[in-house]
Amino acid sequence: MRITDITLLQAIEQLNFSTQYEKERFITIAIIKQMPKKPNQLETKTHKSTFGFVKCPICNSTIPEASAFCMYCGQKLDWE
Ligand SMILES: [Zn+2]
Repeated sequence: MRITDITLLQAIEQLNFSTQYEKERFITIAIIKQMPKKPNQLETKTHKSTFGFVKCPICNSTIPEASAFCMYCGQKLDWE
């Protein structure tokens, strides 16, 4: 376990969850979002305003190219 994981879990301990299930679900999602995923390229780049944007692989929002994270759902992005 890395230091960042420990910090994340400590932060989660400060939050209130109605059930243990809710808490475990939140932790699972938080960990998954730390795993970089490749963004989806937009199908059409014909229009000038779509240049430099990609689609988030998780929530499908349009986000600026080379973003480290999706600004809508927090998914970490892989630009390798
Ligand atoms: Zn997203």
